[in-house]
Amino acid sequence: MTRQAIVAANWKMNGDSALVSSMVSALASINLPSHVDVVICPSFPYLSELNQKITAANLNDAIQVGSQNVSEHDSGAYTGEVSTAILQDLAIHYVILGHSERRSLYNETSLQVAKKVHVALNAGLTPILCIGESEAERANGQTESVLSAQIQPVIDEIGINKFNDVVIAYEPVWAIGTGKTASSAMAQETHQFIRQFLAQHNEQVANKVPLLYGGSVNAANCEELFAQADIDGGLIGGASLKAEQFKTICLAA
Ligand code: PEP
Repeated sequence: MTRQAIVAANWKMNGDSALVSSMVSALASINLPSHVDVVICPSFPYLSELNQKITAANLNDAIQVGSQNVSEHDSGAYTGEVSTAILQDLAIHYVILGHSERRSLYNETSLQVAKKVHVALNAGLTPILCIGESEAERANGQTESVLSAQIQPVIDEIGINKFNDVVIAYEPVWAIGTGKTASSAMAQETHQFIRQFLAQHNEQVANKVPLLYGGSVNAANCEELFAQADIDGGLIGGASLKAEQFKTICLAA
C-alpha cells in the first residue's frame, strides 16, 4: 500500500519573519515531489504570515501549515491557549500533539493528549501524534510498553477507525535535539512495532497511518531513514530551521 509521505518542520520556539520568507522562497525554488506533503509548524504568531506567503507563492497544494499545540477546551478563560476554532479560522490544517517537550515540560498526560487529538479531528485538523521512549526506558527494555501506553488512550478516546486521519511521529526522546539519531534499523523495527500494535485493532487502518520518524534527522541521514519500509517521512526540529537543509530533506522523502 502506498501511504502519504509527510515531511513536517517543528520550529519550536524559534524562527522569525525572515525565516518564514526564506523558507517559502527556498521551497518555491524546487519541484517538491507530488507524493510528499510538506508541513511547516511555526510558533503561533507566525501561522498567518506563513499561510499568506505560501498562498502568494502558489504553493498551497504542496505546503501546509501546522500548529505546535492546541487546547482541548473549546473557548473561554484559558490565558495563553489557542483553540481549534482559532486554528480553523486561520486555515491551519495540521497540529503537532503530545510532543515530548509538552509531555515533560508542561506535564501533558497521554489522556490529555488523547482529548486534544479528539478535538483536533472534530475540527478537521490532522493531528501529528508524537510518541517516544526515554533513554532509560529503552535501556530497560520498556520501549514497546511505553509506546503502547501512549497510543492506547488515543484509541480508547477516538476509536481505531479515526486513526485513518491521524499521523503518528515516533520520536525517541533521547534522539530529539541531541544529534543522536536512531539507526535506520532501530527506527524501522520500532515503526514496525507501532504498525503491528495498530493492526491488532484494525489492519487496514494500520497500513494507512503515516508513521514519521523524528529525532536529529538531517540532510545526511534522511535518505536512509526514509528508505525504511515503515517510515513514511519525518518530523524535523533543528534541521528545519535551515532552509537549504530542509529542502534536501523534503526532496529525500
Ligand atoms: C522535534 O523536536 O520534533 C525534533 C525531532 O527535533 P530535532 O530534529 O532537532 O531532533
